[in-house]
Amino acid sequence: MDAQLLIGSSFELGTEFEGEVINPKTGLKIIDLAEASERQVDAAVTAAQKAFSSWSRTTPSERASYLLRVADAIERHADDFATLEALNCGKPITAVRNDELPAIIDCWRFFAGAVRTMHAPVAGEYLQGYTSMIRRDAVGVIGSIAPWNYPLMMMAWKLAPAIAGGNTVVFKPSEQTPLTALKMAGLLAEILPAGVVNVIHGRGETVGNAIINHAGVAMLSITGDITTGKKVMQAAATTVKRTHLELGGKAPVIIYDDADLEAVVEGIRTFGYYNAGQDCTAACRIYAQAGIYEKFVADLTSAVSSIRYNNPDDATNEMGPLISARQRDRVAGFVIRAEEQKHIEITTGGSLGSEKGFFYQPTVIAGAIQDDEVVQREVFGPVVSVTRFTSDDQAVIWANDSDYGLASSVWTRDISKAMKAASRLQYGCTWINTHFMLTTEMPHGGVKQSGYGKDMSVYALEDYTSVRHVMIRCT
Ligand code: NAD
Repeated sequence: MDAQLLIGSSFELGTEFEGEVINPKTGLKIIDLAEASERQVDAAVTAAQKAFSSWSRTTPSERASYLLRVADAIERHADDFATLEALNCGKPITAVRNDELPAIIDCWRFFAGAVRTMHAPVAGEYLQGYTSMIRRDAVGVIGSIAPWNYPLMMMAWKLAPAIAGGNTVVFKPSEQTPLTALKMAGLLAEILPAGVVNVIHGRGETVGNAIINHAGVAMLSITGDITTGKKVMQAAATTVKRTHLELGGKAPVIIYDDADLEAVVEGIRTFGYYNAGQDCTAACRIYAQAGIYEKFVADLTSAVSSIRYNNPDDATNEMGPLISARQRDRVAGFVIRAEEQKHIEITTGGSLGSEKGFFYQPTVIAGAIQDDEVVQREVFGPVVSVTRFTSDDQAVIWANDSDYGLASSVWTRDISKAMKAASRLQYGCTWINTHFMLTTEMPHGGVKQSGYGKDMSVYALEDYTSVRHVMIRCT
């Protein structure tokens, strides 16, 4: 695969620092990738600005037809994309093929339809003799920066609503997971007019930094760490750019005594460890009520110890490695520090999961208390903490006692109890008797330090467009 940047309609090699893209299953290099220079970032922004004047004036139906072609192309190349994503992230290929790719294709198709049905309040006379109307117009060039946990999906979540809304984009994938973006760039160049999407590569502190500080970029969309989000906000302040921030999460899971325990255990086994826990909505912070606590911990421990990973036959694997040695060591550090607390018991896992590659054992940390680091901070690995609670009120208070506000879930057979908790939880999403289920029609995004702005749904289209008032004097 040629490692190239897409700038306007041309492909060119990066001219700066050459980084290694690593296979997390083996720790071995896949490719070298040179990053974009400041001149190349500038050229990508210029290409996007040039494309904006015509792209923003296309009709929704014209843009929809482009998006549908992108979706069809991904579908045609689904096997290649699944292979690349599995190679670069270490994910089981079945997870990419069966879970991620259908959702990615659906995202492109959804925004093709949604942009044609966007509507605003009707025009009317709010002052005698003057007619007002509302327009929703494209914002301009979007600087779009993605993380490494779901590279192709994040690309879809960011590009589809942005270009459906008439914007043009300079997109940077994570320097750790550029492979599917390299392939997508080839397809996008064949389908879209030049400059509508530009794909450049490189590290955050260099190329990312050049994007977020570029005066020609009107809006910054970033999915990443809270610290990165803060840097984006600081950079945005210099030229007053719009921002769309999808930052970290630490999802609380409240399990009441009357919950269907079997369903809960199955749910946490799946949604706490999916993508090796490298998921901002991972069901990782459990609050289990005293009456079921002991049995829940025992059953979860047994279920989690059966999670299959690092088998030579990938079809049998349920979990992959962490993305990097750094991330694996970070996860291990959380567990080591937790283990030093007398009240904590590691009931399964707690060690590196392989000699080569970056696997970490699926881990359950029981007996955690609210102030523990492992309860308060995002681990972003296959580690779930369990905290005992007694009163219903206490569970909600503890769940809300967090810097994060992305996702949460409540498990009970009592629907009024569930609805009461859901109404009090300060999270962008609350699931009841499930966790992690996403659908393109519904918004995904946080409150508090998890950021703001929505991915997917019509709310994303709203985020990527500006509301404008046009008034006509009629007398
Ligand atoms: P990260 O913040 O380190 O990197 C994300 C992206 O930002 C990368 O492309 C990186 O190169 C870039 N970046 C880093 N520093 C930058 C800077 N100074 N200026 C500009 N760009 C910069 O995050 P990560 O480690 O790749 O991803 C993990 C984080 O992402 C976790 O905290 C996770 O919760 C979060 N995440 C959130 C969501 C969500 O929807 N809320 C989804 C996925 C991941």
